[in-house]
Amino acid sequence: MLKLQYGTLLNRIKSLKTKSALLTLASVLSIFALSPSHSSEDWRLLDLSNEQISRDGQEALNVINGVVSMYRQDAQIGHLYFSLRTDSVLDQVNASYSRVNGNRALNFPYIIQSDGWSLYATAHDQGIVAHETGHMVLDYFRPSWLDSQSAHLAAFHEAFADLTTQFYRYHNPASRPKFISELENGQACVGDNEFTCIRNNSARLTLINVQQDERLCESHEFSKTFSSAVYDSMADAFMSSGQRPQRIRALGTIVTWHRTMLIKAVLSLRGSTSLTLMDISLAMLRVSDENPIYKNVLGNSFIKNGFITLIHKSPIYYYQANSQFVPLCQLQDGRIGNA
Ligand SMILES: [Zn+2]
Repeated sequence: MLKLQYGTLLNRIKSLKTKSALLTLASVLSIFALSPSHSSEDWRLLDLSNEQISRDGQEALNVINGVVSMYRQDAQIGHLYFSLRTDSVLDQVNASYSRVNGNRALNFPYIIQSDGWSLYATAHDQGIVAHETGHMVLDYFRPSWLDSQSAHLAAFHEAFADLTTQFYRYHNPASRPKFISELENGQACVGDNEFTCIRNNSARLTLINVQQDERLCESHEFSKTFSSAVYDSMADAFMSSGQRPQRIRALGTIVTWHRTMLIKAVLSLRGSTSLTLMDISLAMLRVSDENPIYKNVLGNSFIKNGFITLIHKSPIYYYQANSQFVPLCQLQDGRIGNA
């Protein structure tokens, strides 16, 4: 779930219900099938009758396809069927991914901007579409985690989705120049508009913060402890890769390495629903042995955010969970899909 920062949005939407006749968006549910090969002929389009929705759907589909293809470089992903909706305005506040009775659904509604009137098409927001697709990919690998009542796994779902947006931006050479200055400044946001940021210089969220304030157990907040640790590791590896031209050349390798280690960690953890974020950070380091330099950078980042401590460095780095800071969070926001 991607939580948008509009406190009074619901009220605005309610007041706009009477104006809905002005909105010519039909309710069309379009069903697509994403097959293991990458060619566009693999899309199966069953119902796409409205021209505007067709454009929105295609826009979203390009990103969904790009994200799934990216993860197919790390792991086998078979047929991935889902329904896609891009036309809702009044009854859906957030973009979301859900799976009900085995049916996966992505929903990218129009949302009302802060002027109370103009609409923002989340289907056109690559960051939001990548985020929700990240939920779908993680759910494909580990379905029990979406259904779990664990605050740690709910937070990890959000962190994985936020990191998917970052991985996708830097995976795509065309979008790299736009986001390199974010990486250099240690700042990362999800939406292309003004939505949630997982990391900025003024607000680094650590497990100590969550332990001290239970409001931060909310999954979108709690998730930032993990996503920003991984993001910081990418930023640190990037900044220490020499002069700027050399560093930019190394960017693809750095981002791919972090993404692959995250997927390997997920696959190594099978399906347990009692995992903590500490377990997942340790799993990521366990699968990282082949690159001790990046592993060290990642380990330091997890240490800074309170997840783990370093036991010894030689002959290889060895870490353990930092039992001092395990937040005893309860799940706060239910699990009807993931926004
Ligand atoms: Zn989300």
